[in-house]
Amino acid sequence: MAALGQQGRPVDEVIAELTEKRAGDVKWSDGKTFGMVYDGGPTVQAVAEQAARLYLHENALNTQAFPSLRHIQSEVVGWTADLLNGDENTSGFLTSGGTESILCGVLAARKRAHIERGITEPEMVLPETAHAAFHKAADNFGLKVRKIPVHADYTADVEAMANAVGPNTALVVGSAPQYPQGVQDDIPAIAALAKSVGANCHVDACMGGFVLPFAERLGRGVQPWDFRVDGVTTISADIHKLGYAPKGVSVILHDTKESRKYQTFVFDGWLGGFYASPNMQGTRSGLPMACAWAVMQHLGTDGYVELTQQTLINADLMRAGIVGIDGIRVLGDSQFHLIAMAAESGSGIDMFALGDALLAKGWYHDRQTPPDNLHSTVSNTNTGVIENYLADLTECVSAVRGTSTADRSTTYATLE
Ligand SMILES: *Cc1c(COP(=O)(O)O)cnc(C)c1O
Repeated sequence: MAALGQQGRPVDEVIAELTEKRAGDVKWSDGKTFGMVYDGGPTVQAVAEQAARLYLHENALNTQAFPSLRHIQSEVVGWTADLLNGDENTSGFLTSGGTESILCGVLAARKRAHIERGITEPEMVLPETAHAAFHKAADNFGLKVRKIPVHADYTADVEAMANAVGPNTALVVGSAPQYPQGVQDDIPAIAALAKSVGANCHVDACMGGFVLPFAERLGRGVQPWDFRVDGVTTISADIHKLGYAPKGVSVILHDTKESRKYQTFVFDGWLGGFYASPNMQGTRSGLPMACAWAVMQHLGTDGYVELTQQTLINADLMRAGIVGIDGIRVLGDSQFHLIAMAAESGSGIDMFALGDALLAKGWYHDRQTPPDNLHSTVSNTNTGVIENYLADLTECVSAVRGTSTADRSTTYATLE
């Protein structure tokens, strides 16, 4: 542990050291990182950077002091609700990310179950492919999780879920698509299950929210998943993923204003005045909200359709390439921008050794298990590099065949 220096340092020196610190981070702008940072191109970066400069110091805690942030939130939420085929009752809030949107969705479901159905031991039913954030929410808010194994194709086993749904069910979860293998659950069946007991149905579209609406416009077969599906009560959609805004912004949508009320907190019993909070945050940066507004305005629907087209070209090329390489395969029938790559049985390929070999050539994937596999979130960031990637992949597959690595870690997120 070191103490903060007694004397401050000049701006140039501070920035020079920060720049140096950053040198060891992943170089996402070269397109070789499959996930984490999503690059909409130079003008999208420019508009976000200028919006960030304008809103660097603004605080959305109190929108009476910063009315522009109330308008920004309401406009971004409204555009997203429209994209997801909501109606005049659809409402929501901006949050800091997918996890916070999911926390809000779970909290609202729990409160609704308590107030409307008197449930004191709330449960949520979810497929094992649902994001870890649901388990975080259950842990934080005291819900019991009924985690249900999925089909061999990694989609939710709705019949098995039905057996777990009962009088204590507060929430039933499906994903469009789920993160690990990128496949989409049967949302109409899941929503019907939830409705049959008066529970909420949350559709996790953190990944798909800013892809599926545009894939549909491109004529891709998109199974029903949004507010057109009867029984869907909440949806999470991350603008800081394929919405191409910088980190720190997501949308939580509710089918009605009454449903939205269950996630808000109001308090009039301290000496600081009437306090109202729409999500998990108190003081709340206006920067990511303004960036989301600016990026969405700059792109428009046409811009998103173009970025989605490019993303799907990249992902299709990658999938076809993987399928064509002897010894590796794609898990599940993913149709969009998420790809999980595993070994064919008996191929003698250690996927994590393959991951290390790819990393040595600059290609960054997340690791998952079981089975051992390498995960890619493909986006416009990866435009123009897929042919090179597949050439390196072919070479690495040959190089690692019959070898293995002792490192079995699949750390996705870290504590420090
Ligand atoms: C990314 C993601 C989340 C969590 O979002 P964060 O922005 O990382 O908090 C939840 N669900 C899915 C499907 C995701 O891809």
